Amino acid sequence: VGEPSEQWRVYQGAPTGTDIECEGWRQEAALRMLNNNLDPDVAEKPEALVVYGGTGRAARSWEAYDAILDELRELGDEETLLVQSGKPVGRFPTHERAPRVLIANSNLVGKWDNWERFHELEAEGKIMYGQMTAGSWAYIGTQGIVQGTYETLAELGRQEYEGDLEGRIVVTGGLGGMSGAQPLAVTMNRGVCIVAEVDARRIERRLETDYLMERAESLDEALDAATAAAEAAEPYSVAVETNVADMLETMVERDFVPDVVTDQTSAHDELEGYYPSGYTVDEADELRASDPERYREASLETMERHVDAVLELQERGAVAFEYGNNLRGQVEEHCDHENAFDFPGFVPAYIRPMFCRGRGPFRWAALSGDPADIHRTDEAVTELFPENDSLTRWIELAQEHVSFQGLPSRVCWLGYETENGVTERARFALRINELVAEGEITAPVVVTRDHLDAGSVASPHRETEAMRDGTDAVADWPILNALLNCAAGADIVSVHDGGGVGIGNALHTNNHVVLDGTELAAEKARRVFTTDPGMGVVRHADAGYEDALDEADRSDVAVPMRDR
Ligand code: NAD
Repeated sequence: VGEPSEQWRVYQGAPTGTDIECEGWRQEAALRMLNNNLDPDVAEKPEALVVYGGTGRAARSWEAYDAILDELRELGDEETLLVQSGKPVGRFPTHERAPRVLIANSNLVGKWDNWERFHELEAEGKIMYGQMTAGSWAYIGTQGIVQGTYETLAELGRQEYEGDLEGRIVVTGGLGGMSGAQPLAVTMNRGVCIVAEVDARRIERRLETDYLMERAESLDEALDAATAAAEAAEPYSVAVETNVADMLETMVERDFVPDVVTDQTSAHDELEGYYPSGYTVDEADELRASDPERYREASLETMERHVDAVLELQERGAVAFEYGNNLRGQVEEHCDHENAFDFPGFVPAYIRPMFCRGRGPFRWAALSGDPADIHRTDEAVTELFPENDSLTRWIELAQEHVSFQGLPSRVCWLGYETENGVTERARFALRINELVAEGEITAPVVVTRDHLDAGSVASPHRETEAMRDGTDAVADWPILNALLNCAAGADIVSVHDGGGVGIGNALHTNNHVVLDGTELAAEKARRVFTTDPGMGVVRHADAGYEDALDEADRSDVAVPMRDR
C-alpha cells in the first residue's frame, strides 16, 4: 500500500468543527468519515490502511487515499465520484439528489469469486478487501458493534435462561476491531467472559478502553477468577494470551464446560486473519511472508481442531453458536469436515426475528467532533421512543460504559414500524435534522449503518443462513437494496463482496445520509429510511416469514404477490 500519506499524518483522524474544506457538507462528510475510519484510535492498523476485520481497508493504497481526498475536495454538489475497490476511478455530472459517492469493493464474477483469485489481484494492486464498513467509510470503532453483540447476547439470555447472563460463563476468541466488543457486551448482560487472544497488543488496547476488565497470566488463573465471579453473580471479563483452539482443547481435557461458547477470531481469512496454533504472533507473521501455503495449511488445521473442541463442548452441554466469522464454512470446505455445521449461526438463532421487522443497526456520527452533540441525540432518541425499554437501557449503558473512538457516535437498533406513515428510523433521522437546523446540534450528523442489516445482505453462512424458502444464496436482494438506496437519494452507497465471511461468501451494501438541517436532507432521510429498512420487510415477507408479513400489514408495505 506504500508509505503512509503525509495528509493522513497531519489529519490523525477526522477533521472536526464547522469549517469545511469541500464544496458542501455531503462531500465533507465523506472526507471526514474516510479519515475517521483511519483514525489511529479507531483503526486496527491504520498505517497499512487496515481498519478492522483481518485486512478490511478504507483505501487501496496511500496514493489512492490522497487521490480520493483531492477528488472529494473538488467534487461539486451536482457530481458523483466513483470508487472501485478503494481507488477513485471516475467523476460524472449527475444531480443534487443523487449520491455524491458510489463505491464497489472486492466484487468478482461468480466463477472467479474466491480468495485465491482475490489475493492474486490484491498482490497486483488491482483490488482491495473492503470488509463491511471499512471500505464504505462507516466504521466507528468497536463501539459500532457493541450494541449488536449486546442485543445478540441479551436474546441468547432470554431464550436459554429466561433472563440475562448473570452467573453464566461465556468463552470466546478474538479481541480485535469487532471481536473486542465481546467482553463488554457480556458484562453489560451481567455475565462472565473468558476470551483467548494471541496478540498481547490487542489485549492491552481493550484494557485501555475498558472493553475488558483483566488479563490473566495463565488459563488456570482465568478459570479460577471466572468461576469465582460466576458463583458470586458478578459481571467479569478476563483475557488469556493464547490460541483459542488450544484454550478450548484444554477446557475439554479438564472437562471445564462453559455455559456458552462462541468465537470472533478472523477465521473468514485463513491467511491474513486467523492465527495457527504453535507459533507466536511474530513467528506466524514471518511464516505468512515466507511460506503462505504452509501458513494456510497450519491455519486451517488449527480451525479444524477449534471446531472439534466447540462441538465437544456443545456435546457436553455448552450453548454453542458461530459468531459470523465463517469458521464453520472454512472447516467444512477446506478440511472436508462433515459436522462443522452442527452448531448454529447467530442470525437464525437470535437476529432474524428483528430483521423481519426491518430492525437493524442504525448508527450516527457527529461531524462537529463534540460529544455534547451525541448526548443531545441520546436524549432525542429516548424522547421519541419512551416505550422502548431495551433502547432506553442501551442508551444508559452506552453512556456509562462505551468510550468514544474518533468522531463521537452512537448505535441503536431501529426498525420499520410506522407512525403516521413515517418509519422509526426516519422519525429519528428527521428529529436529528431538526436539531441541526435549530442549532441545538452544532454541525451536521451522518447517519449510516452496518452492512449487516435487515435487507442489505446475501450471506448463506450468516445473515441469510437457513432461510425458510431456501434462498440463502440469492444475491438479487442486496443489489436491489443498493439500487433503491440510490433511487432514494442516499449520499454514499456501496456494494461489497466478502466482508465478515470472506470472498465469495456474501454480497452486502451500505448507505450514508448527511443530516445538515436542510429540507433536502429531510427529503433524503424520509425516503432512504423508509426504503432501506423496508427492504428487510419485503425480503423476509417474500421468504414467507410471518413476522415480516405482519409488519407489512401493520406498516402498509406493498408486497405485490403475497396473496396470489
Ligand atoms: P480483527 O482481525 O480486528 O480481530 C481478530 C482478532 O482475533 C485479532 O486480534 C487476532 O489477533 C485474533 N486471532 C486470530 N486468530 C486467533 C486465534 N487462533 N486464537 C486467538 N486469537 C486469534 O477482526 P474483527 O473485526 O475483530 O472481526 C473478527 C471476526 O468476526 C471477523 O471474521 C469478522 O468478520 C467477524 N465479525 C462478525 C460480526 C457479526 O456481526 N457477527 C461482527 C463483527 C465481526
